[in-house]
Amino acid sequence: MRPPTRLVHPPKPKGPGPQTVNPVIQKGSTVLLPDAAALYDDDAFVTYGRAGLGAHEALKVALCDLEQAASVELYPSGVAAIAGALLAVMQAGDELLMVDTAYKPTRRFCDRTLARFGVQTRYYDPTLPTEAIVGLMGPKTRALFMESPGSLSFEMQDVPALAAAARARGVLTLIDNTWGAGHLFKPLEHGVDVSLQSLTKYVGGHSDAFMGSAAARDPGVAARLQAGVVDLGWSVAAEDAYAMLRGLRTLDVRLRRHGESGLVVAEWLQAQDEVAAVLHPALPGAPGHELWKRDFSGACGLFALVLRPAPAEASAAFLDALKIFGLGFSWGGFESLAIDCDPQLKVRSLRREYGGGLVRLHIGLEDPADLIADLERALTAFRASAGS
Ligand SMILES: *Cc1c(COP(=O)(O)O)cnc(C)c1O
Repeated sequence: MRPPTRLVHPPKPKGPGPQTVNPVIQKGSTVLLPDAAALYDDDAFVTYGRAGLGAHEALKVALCDLEQAASVELYPSGVAAIAGALLAVMQAGDELLMVDTAYKPTRRFCDRTLARFGVQTRYYDPTLPTEAIVGLMGPKTRALFMESPGSLSFEMQDVPALAAAARARGVLTLIDNTWGAGHLFKPLEHGVDVSLQSLTKYVGGHSDAFMGSAAARDPGVAARLQAGVVDLGWSVAAEDAYAMLRGLRTLDVRLRRHGESGLVVAEWLQAQDEVAAVLHPALPGAPGHELWKRDFSGACGLFALVLRPAPAEASAAFLDALKIFGLGFSWGGFESLAIDCDPQLKVRSLRREYGGGLVRLHIGLEDPADLIADLERALTAFRASAGS
């Protein structure tokens, strides 16, 4: 079966009772066991609800199929998945090579928490050639962390080449694949060891639930991830696992619409005088387009635009004039959103000039013509504020 069909009909765990289309939402901390021997038989029985019940198992099986993974762990948020996977694979004295364009809370976790446990993080520029990134790997380098496209500024990485080079040196690879949603890009098939995503975004798809996942192929890596979840005591609610499974059913059709509308809006923006550049890897001629075309089967609705150089008030005027786009963090839901990225870029090690104010857009499921009219209104406000 092809990927869109598999999202609708993933393998299902078999259980007793009436077979509905969706799993039961079973709630419970205590699990009642049939006899004394079963109390300590963790191999044959779920002995405690923290490990997850029916809906969790159904979600894990479906995500394994999506990611082509041997195992998937669930976490209470995307940040928890990133933190949990890093804690599971790093140890004191190790060095982590982290992409400089990583999601900002990923960086905060490395600098604040991993550092306290004796793990040093070095940030690398995703636009460096593969050999130069490999050249940064030393005897202490345990893992290479990627995010492609990068948060806010959408730099693409040559993931298969980096994964192969890291593997040859015994360095583990992890990727934050939230943009690819496990569907547009399959990291494990490209040689990456751990595929992470915030299910909060496209898999959930409705801006109403948090969850993260870590998928692995190698049994040794999978066992470490699982031990990490068990040791940290993480568990997710059955209702949320159910909501994520529901989101998976429509992931393909929603992503298609987000991706198509995103390109319509991106192409329109490219033709506007007030827009200096559009950073969208699926846009022909954009930075990273060739890598995207080679490795991805589609695009989502998240990209950025660079406004013409103007005082910061003009970027604010642009955002304040928007009526359909909400101003807010996160993305992947049905609704369009916008944020100003400049304050977040300041934490990066490598300060790049994008040539003007960077604004990130999430294109939702609205009619793109309405979104373009909204952006037209915002560009008029920008022009008036910039005084040109
Ligand atoms: C939102 C996001 C996360 C974190 O997800 P939460 O579920 O909000 O914790 C991680 N990575 C990227 C790229 C994100 O955009």
